[in-house]
Amino acid sequence: MTYLFLQKKIEKELNDSGVDSPHFSSKILITHFLDIPQYVLFMNSEISEKSEKLENLYGALLKVKNGYPIDYVLGYKYFFNLKISIDNNTLIPRPETEGLVDLVIKENKNYSKNFADVGTGSGAIALKLADTYPGSKVYATDIYKKTLDKAIENSKILKIKNIFFLLGENYKPLKNYISKINIIVSNPPYIKTSLINNLEPKVRNYEPIYALDGGENGTDIIKELVLNLPEKTKLYLEIADYNIPSIIKCCKAKMFSWRFEKDIFNKLRYAVINE
Ligand code: GLN
Repeated sequence: MTYLFLQKKIEKELNDSGVDSPHFSSKILITHFLDIPQYVLFMNSEISEKSEKLENLYGALLKVKNGYPIDYVLGYKYFFNLKISIDNNTLIPRPETEGLVDLVIKENKNYSKNFADVGTGSGAIALKLADTYPGSKVYATDIYKKTLDKAIENSKILKIKNIFFLLGENYKPLKNYISKINIIVSNPPYIKTSLINNLEPKVRNYEPIYALDGGENGTDIIKELVLNLPEKTKLYLEIADYNIPSIIKCCKAKMFSWRFEKDIFNKLRYAVINE
């Protein structure tokens, strides 16, 4: 069998199973699992890889055809320029979250600030901030050890050294560092429990539900983060538009300023609090 034939065959199988972008997905699966450069796919030569690699490819193909997210099958996802290792204990980093970090970077050109990323998951936000602000300290927290271990692994692979990892819930692990932190950034679970069932099956069935479900109004964690925000600290949050009334209520209670910004899909997606 030739590489070209294999690519067409896999593309058709993915397409027949209703997988998104079958052409792109077929190419990425083949190049990843056979460990070959893209151009080989255009050659009409016979496949020379060991059968073990092909078996892994077919195993991965089957998972993807059954609805398992391709990013978990590959084990990584790019967040900006950073190749972030992920598994099913971490949310798959999303373009909306790149938008959150973009907003922070655009609005904070002063490179002497320190940051915290609360609920760091794979570490995506913290890693990009630490890479962008090499003179800053970035404190990254997560409540789950397995998840935090993944973020630590990523910082080692990417050789990003100005991150400090802390295990614990919300601001609790930041207690001893809070006076040093100028800006807190977080993509907390913010989806209403009643909407979890409406998420795509790929997300609902395979991504960690605790990273998505924000309780009855989606604001269980958001409220904690706003109501306990230290007086001199600015908070950037990724949110859903239906979280907004509850966020405003919390800001009023604490006399914090608030502002909302849109994402690349033109949806209100970010809250900037206490600037
Ligand atoms: N901070 C991580 C991300 O943005 C994880 C967020 C989460 O698990 N809710 O991808």
